[in-house]
Amino acid sequence: GCPGRLLELKGNIRVLCRLRPGTPSSLVSLEPGPGGTVTTCYRGHQRRFRLDWVFPPHASQEEVFRELESAVLSCLGGYSVCIFTYGQTGTGKTYSMEGPPEDPGIAPRALQSLFREMGTGGQHRVTLSMVEIYNEAVRPPNGALPFLTRDLLAPGPPQRLAVRQGPAGQGGVQVAGLTHWDVPSLESLHQMLSLGRSNRATAATAMNQRSSRSHALVTLTLRTASPSRGPGTAGTLHLVDLAGSERAWKAGAAGTSQEDRDGAQRLREARTINRSLLALGGVMAALRARRPHVPFRDSQLTRLLQPALGPGATAVLLLQISTRPEDLGETVCSLKFAERVS
Ligand code: ADP
Ligand code: MG
Repeated sequence: GCPGRLLELKGNIRVLCRLRPGTPSSLVSLEPGPGGTVTTCYRGHQRRFRLDWVFPPHASQEEVFRELESAVLSCLGGYSVCIFTYGQTGTGKTYSMEGPPEDPGIAPRALQSLFREMGTGGQHRVTLSMVEIYNEAVRPPNGALPFLTRDLLAPGPPQRLAVRQGPAGQGGVQVAGLTHWDVPSLESLHQMLSLGRSNRATAATAMNQRSSRSHALVTLTLRTASPSRGPGTAGTLHLVDLAGSERAWKAGAAGTSQEDRDGAQRLREARTINRSLLALGGVMAALRARRPHVPFRDSQLTRLLQPALGPGATAVLLLQISTRPEDLGETVCSLKFAERVS
């Protein structure tokens, strides 16, 4: 395909769909391409979902990035671009976003493409930050903060970051203490990303699959250093590997005593994560419908992304789905989420 296609699609939110490779199933069938469809057959009930783009089964990392490249490069023109991976745990969100070293995903390809396009002229100043939002609750009881927003690139032990409303009238937020790193080269960028990734992975083993319950946000800010192009012109690229979208009942299988308490904890986590994904759905649906009120304040995730999702911004949701019969209920839920925002 030709890059540029995606930007011609109507609306500033696009939903793309990628299948986790596996045995094809008669319960999930595809019609790939632009305006493609996914048809599910769940409990004898057939449903057809239309998306902006459906990748064919076994689409390569390169194929996926090709559809995203023009959107990514638009941030060099001062635009804001957000790319999300959404779906049930195990459907390939991290694979699509990061990919294994031998077959890199969206993030490494996007950064390479941006640096290639910027060339060596030194006209841009690039900064990077990486944040993890874990166990978010939309309305913390008694002002407590059950969620943890942490800086994945700060030296030292993990620090809880406070997200505050920015200066009046600017509609943004400030994350107190978040580190922003200057990125002089593509090589240093890759080093920072792998540091952030390993900080996230460390917690994953220590806290039992933490990564499936947290959102990881990589933010790249590009400022033009050339006065002729206008000072302060900044483009941003947000790459967001979202928490698993599976419903609470799955995570909260109850047993006895300690098991029960662990189950209850898992259930609470799954519920709160679900609520933050719900908030994202609400924001995207409001943006897509151009409603005057956009409920950014419903979650930490959407508050953080508020400046990036405003007018003129491009958001791409890469929906990851499974073909496994036992995942069908979750697959339908993910497609319903996509339907809500598109
Ligand atoms: P998630 O982040 O959604 O929980 P992962 O990205 O960790 O899921 O993927 C789960 C497993 O499936 C991993 O072992 C991953 O390598 C594999 N996988 C996912 N998508 C693909 C793909 N397109 N090609 C090959 N392997 C994949
Ligand atoms: Mg993952």
